[in-house]
Amino acid sequence: MIELRTPAEIEAMRPAGRFVAETLATLRAETKVGTNLLTIDKRAHEMIRRAGAESCYIDYHPSFGASPFGKVICTSVNDAVLHGLPFDYTLRDGDLVSLDFAVSVDGWVADSAVSFVVGTPRDEDLQLIDTTQRALDAAIAAAVVGGRVGDISHAIAEVSRGGGYEINTDFGGHGVGRIMHGDPHIPNDGKPGRGYPLRAGLVVALEPWLLQTTDELITDPDGWTLRSADGSRGAHSEHTVALTADGPIILTDRSFLGVD
Ligand code: MG
Repeated sequence: MIELRTPAEIEAMRPAGRFVAETLATLRAETKVGTNLLTIDKRAHEMIRRAGAESCYIDYHPSFGASPFGKVICTSVNDAVLHGLPFDYTLRDGDLVSLDFAVSVDGWVADSAVSFVVGTPRDEDLQLIDTTQRALDAAIAAAVVGGRVGDISHAIAEVSRGGGYEINTDFGGHGVGRIMHGDPHIPNDGKPGRGYPLRAGLVVALEPWLLQTTDELITDPDGWTLRSADGSRGAHSEHTVALTADGPIILTDRSFLGVD
């Protein structure tokens, strides 16, 4: 079922969005060559506790998950792109890191992800990250009242294919509200003018993700982490966005913190 939020409810979702933005900005700044993935999770856990927020991940146990997730952030490194379960790994020079973070504050969820390189980046990794971010920007620009879900999907796919990447539609965007995953599903490829009409009050997580040279995923033995089938690297960009008559509001926007 698709739920539309009132302007007052969208205002009430802002603290969750701001907390997710601040946490990702902080974790990104602290994550360097030599940082352990378990340290990132521990820091996120501390920030959640201090803010009185609630993790959407720690007890998360969908049908495809082997067991409850048990951590509060997804850390996907290099060939891992989605649902990366933090483990005892120390980041090396040139590693491509994706952090995906969702919490609820005052009963409202916000969900966002960012990809970046620690240490010296490779050109092809910067290109992948840039294309994924531009796909998200295009998705947000297409998230306008009067349009259709397919307009968002198409915008993501145009930028992704334009960058020379293939698209996997197994995982995509979703409604966000009292829970992390709601309707509508927003595939990362689709036809403009098709699908659910975009109405004022719709709040969605838009999340393009791309792999360098494949569109096939494999599940890690940990039961969670999704990796590229060919070992090539992945990137993931996500924001929670509220559609209003005045245009989209990026609830998890980090730009007020001076970071992208
Ligand atoms: Mg997310």
